[in-house]
Amino acid sequence: MVTQPGRWTGRPAFPYDRSASAGPGGTKDRMNDTSNHPPAIRLSGVNLSLGRDAARVHILKDIDLHIGTGEAVGLVGPSGSGKSTLLMVAAGLERPDTGAVFVAGEDLGRLDEDALARFRGRHVGIVFQSFHLIPTMTALENVAVPLELAGSPDAFERAAQELASVGLRDRVNHYPAELSGGEQQRVALARALAPHPAILVADEPTGNLDESTGREIIELLFAGHEKRATTLVLVTHDMALAQRCDRVVRLRSGRIETPETVA
Ligand code: ADP
Ligand code: MG
Repeated sequence: MVTQPGRWTGRPAFPYDRSASAGPGGTKDRMNDTSNHPPAIRLSGVNLSLGRDAARVHILKDIDLHIGTGEAVGLVGPSGSGKSTLLMVAAGLERPDTGAVFVAGEDLGRLDEDALARFRGRHVGIVFQSFHLIPTMTALENVAVPLELAGSPDAFERAAQELASVGLRDRVNHYPAELSGGEQQRVALARALAPHPAILVADEPTGNLDESTGREIIELLFAGHEKRATTLVLVTHDMALAQRCDRVVRLRSGRIETPETVA
């Protein structure tokens, strides 16, 4: 996979395991549902702990979150509040201990790991703070990977178009080490958008970039979201940036705090 391999943690039973009692309709879909569209992402009753033994941490707590198709959501909260973990759960890279995760109508809990990997490849675009390009591949090859995995017959042509649309027409044969940070993140964005994913998740995508380079990436990110009506979840520390989204969701200590609608 182009994207980071998941850390599968299995599904142990925990004191907060409500899966036995929370059947359909048993979960609390009580908030965050400001959209009139069918949800692109729906998390219900999600709990997740990671780490072993004494170091085990209950990271996500009773998360209910609906994100409408085509919506852009800014996910904010203090460092360590669970933003990245929530994003990984929504992207199908991490399975929750309890609860349900639906993306583009698919119940991710019902997919085995192969099916889930295929689903991610087709429907989920992911952009990380640290780019995660494959160093032995050119920009063009990096962007072509998800297209080839999806069986696209013209993967390289489409990859070239995607690179052109992020302003890298003359960098297609460069390797990641030959590109600046901003250029690498453009490649990563082109790769994420290339399969026309239903959802695009970005985890502090400008965190490793200077301010003006970061701004360029953000413009491209929003342009990709708007042009393709791709649902966007953007984790950021920057409140002004989060407020460019349709809605801001705030996490604190693993719980959704005060969802606020931004007009
Ligand atoms: P954020 O992205 O908001 O900074 P994270 O989702 O990365 O927060 O992490 C939330 C909490 O979970 C942190 O306290 C972090 O230390 C802990 N955590 C994250 N991954 C693991 C893991 N694999 N094992 C144990 N604890 C983890
Ligand atoms: Mg994080």
